[in-house]
Amino acid sequence: MYWNAVPEVIAILVIILIMINSHSVHAMPSTRDKLFKFSLYYTCFCILLNLLAIQALSYVTTIPVWVNIVTNTAYFIFYPPAPLFFIFYILFYVYELAPQKHHVRFRIFSTILLSSMFIYIIIVFLNLKFGWIFYFDENRNYIRGPFNRTSLVLAIFQGIVALIAILLERKYLDKFFFKIIILIPLFSFTIITLQIFYIEVVLTGTAMMIALLSLYLNFQTRKISVDNLTQYSNRETFAANLEKLVRLHRKVTVLVVSLDNFKAINDTFGQKKGDLFIKAIANSLHEICVKGQVYRYSGDEFAVIFDNPLPQKCIEEVIERFKNLWVVEGVSKRLSASFATLQLPFKVDPKADPITLLDHAILTAKNQGKGQLVNCDVLILQNIRRKNLLTDRLLQAIPNNSFSLHFQPIFSLASGKMGIAEALLRMKDPEMGSVTPNEFIPLAEELGIIGDLGQWVLEQVCRMLDKLRLQGKEMPTISVNFSGLQFTDSKTVKNILEIIEKYSIPQGKIIIELTESTFIGTLFDDALSVMKPLIAHGINFHLDDFGTGYSNLSYMANLPFTCIKIDRSILLNAKVHTRQHHFIDSIIHIVKQMGYCAILEGVENEEQLAYLQEIGCDMAQGYHLSPPLEQNEFEAAISQGIYYPLTKITQ
Ligand code: C2E
Ligand code: CA
Ligand code: CA
Repeated sequence: MYWNAVPEVIAILVIILIMINSHSVHAMPSTRDKLFKFSLYYTCFCILLNLLAIQALSYVTTIPVWVNIVTNTAYFIFYPPAPLFFIFYILFYVYELAPQKHHVRFRIFSTILLSSMFIYIIIVFLNLKFGWIFYFDENRNYIRGPFNRTSLVLAIFQGIVALIAILLERKYLDKFFFKIIILIPLFSFTIITLQIFYIEVVLTGTAMMIALLSLYLNFQTRKISVDNLTQYSNRETFAANLEKLVRLHRKVTVLVVSLDNFKAINDTFGQKKGDLFIKAIANSLHEICVKGQVYRYSGDEFAVIFDNPLPQKCIEEVIERFKNLWVVEGVSKRLSASFATLQLPFKVDPKADPITLLDHAILTAKNQGKGQLVNCDVLILQNIRRKNLLTDRLLQAIPNNSFSLHFQPIFSLASGKMGIAEALLRMKDPEMGSVTPNEFIPLAEELGIIGDLGQWVLEQVCRMLDKLRLQGKEMPTISVNFSGLQFTDSKTVKNILEIIEKYSIPQGKIIIELTESTFIGTLFDDALSVMKPLIAHGINFHLDDFGTGYSNLSYMANLPFTCIKIDRSILLNAKVHTRQHHFIDSIIHIVKQMGYCAILEGVENEEQLAYLQEIGCDMAQGYHLSPPLEQNEFEAAISQGIYYPLTKITQ
């Protein structure tokens, strides 16, 4: 009898190629991944066994008959489980996504599949006595028995069982994967059918190879999704694994390590060295957390999943590691990181999204300063809920009339007269009560609605100025705060000018306050291209919160500001340290020498005020002089003229 085994040889070569490709990945092997790897080896073994059986058959006249009986029986026993492993791989995948209560179906399907395999193996053993599958006649000819094709029928039966499982759970499957899973058995069926008709061409290995190849290309490489740089699993895998652990109510601890200001490393040492630091950190986490699985969570963040019990010692060791130097290619650097931990199941709210919890905990840790560890607890959950609620309320705040403006006078220290008033946004929500701008402004920036908010503020201010003019009152000069994001919006200039023109606001009545952070990463010419056309229309610029950021004075000095507002933190310190007094003195001198007017914020007592007058500060703002006033209060005060009795000091 003639057999063509060439397709088997090709199949084994392709499988070896897949083996090489799927090697050397630091990913957490799930049961499915392990099954895939095992299937690769097992299929190779079966193809070799098949080749051996075919070889033995071609020497049927020269070698003892029992050799052929043994090789062929081994072939019939070992080959059929190969497609079964493949089918189990698909079932594992399907029931990872199906709800927990459907897992009983998995057990039923498994029992059917394993029992059918068991019955088949019994038939193969009985074949030795009855020759149902094959036997050798007295002339040593290989004769097919009546059940010779039972293994193919079994494969088709098992394929149908898998298809039923897939169809039953299809609504839980990703559309793309559903198509692939449906296609794989169809491909294999086609080959098995071909095999039934062209029995002399051995195609069983090819069928398995195609199935394994499609699993590899579509599931293994996609699902494992390893980070290219570190070779540890990436964020998608982390998220998928976490979701699974939550669903299975597994007890695990998750640690997130987020590098503080890693951008500075890239800027100082270059991207390549930065990459080496990232690799070194990932490897170090892998070494320290022997029992954990390391992930690259994002560009400069890592995550480790530990099986409980609580890996307290390990987490302490990780934190400790960041107190020491990191050395790559002769560069040594101390790197700071913030840490967040989460214990699953999250008892406070088992339905809470673990990634949101971890992201919030990291944010909280960073706000507390560098190198902090924050555990996801009830407080973090409350923060998230408050942020979600505030997001909802903020999106409705303008139509709901939740915003109002307060005005805080800024006084000239020479005359005691109000020179400017700063417009400060207030939010009062029926559900949340008063919310401070320090809370809602950053969120408005995050939500991308700060532009609308800025417009609203400017329009309110201009409307008030227009109203005061109509009432024949003196128009005050108002400064409005602008966020950096508004500044980079190309429509800002046009929008501002439209409002100013709509209310015919005279030149010099509107000031825009910008902070240094607005200019981080902004090219000098870009900054000027926004400021210049507005200045041409009589809008002045003040630099806000000076002394809090990383002042690049030479950059700032070239921008057309009229006043510099020195941050209140500087004045706060001045009460305690006398050197700080000299510091304020020097700053005010420099600011004035450079031709700006100097404004000091946060004046809270008479002593500070007296000191500022003494050193020649131009203007001051603070609770001691006047708190921010409600709009109608402010309007009423305007009519009387707003003064601060400075006479006491000047005497
Ligand atoms: P800022 O621009 O530095 O505003 C001054 C803040 O200091 C105001 O807080 C004001 O109430 C407070 N303040 C005034 N005098 C004193 C004092 O003597 N002692 C102390 N401790 N604080 C004093 P507020 O109104 O809560 O605003 C906080 C921040 O929110 C503002 O800081 C500003 O950055 C932002 N903001 C407020 N309104 C707007 C707005 O309309 N648009 C934008 N983009 N940001 C705004
Ligand atoms: Ca301000
Ligand atoms: Ca300020």
